[in-house]
Amino acid sequence: MPSPKMPVLFIGHGSPENAIEDNEFTRNWRKLAAQIPKPKAILCISAHWLQEGTAETSMEHPRTIHDFYGFPQELYQIKYPAPGSAKFAKKIKECVKTVPVSFDHEWGLDHGTWSVLKHMYPKADIPVIQLSLDYQLPLEKIFWIGKELSVLRTQGVLIIGSGNLVHNLMMFHPTSKPYSWAIDFDNFVKKSIQDSNYDQLLNYNQHPHAILAHPTNDHYLPLIYVLGAAEKEKAQFFNEKIVYGSISMRCVAFGMEKLKG
Ligand code: ZN
Repeated sequence: MPSPKMPVLFIGHGSPENAIEDNEFTRNWRKLAAQIPKPKAILCISAHWLQEGTAETSMEHPRTIHDFYGFPQELYQIKYPAPGSAKFAKKIKECVKTVPVSFDHEWGLDHGTWSVLKHMYPKADIPVIQLSLDYQLPLEKIFWIGKELSVLRTQGVLIIGSGNLVHNLMMFHPTSKPYSWAIDFDNFVKKSIQDSNYDQLLNYNQHPHAILAHPTNDHYLPLIYVLGAAEKEKAQFFNEKIVYGSISMRCVAFGMEKLKG
């Protein structure tokens, strides 16, 4: 059976506690998944797997990684037992020509992946593969990797970038209103996507608030893989909110019919 072309998603994951919360953000993640054909596999590029070189998980049973500190005990008990897939890992490796991709047997699924998928696909019955972020690569090359991955969309693979479009933990405050620079940068990303001005997004560091919005770029980089795979298709936005002053929860879906509220 031919597969329908899958969308490409950027998900603003926010706090690990979203994994156990039923809130406006997690409800929208669930609604989103209900509007997507069931994937054969999910390729997730999480902000929380940052290393030198590009690797992908290739074990049949990736472990659930609890890569955060000081959160409620309940969060550390969560397992997201989705299988991996050596078959899809091989396909992904074959797609990418810009850089060599190595098979990883150590990592697993970090909270950038499972805190979201636990809501979107609670049965954990779809194989999940994570691709690492390479912090040494120029953004153009990351964009090219995304482009090379886009062919997987016609093979039933759902590509998800999981980060946050504004992410400053030093300025984070539980009761803060959104900072004006955060609103500004978040709007800049939205507008650039709407205008398909990907060059502007690749050169985001020229934005006057780039350093405040992303003191480190780990939560921004997943967007660049997603843009490559999105092929300038129409984007829709949801969870358009800034929480704790400095974290944008904005999500972007490319290549979907009109989203139902
Ligand atoms: Zn995060």
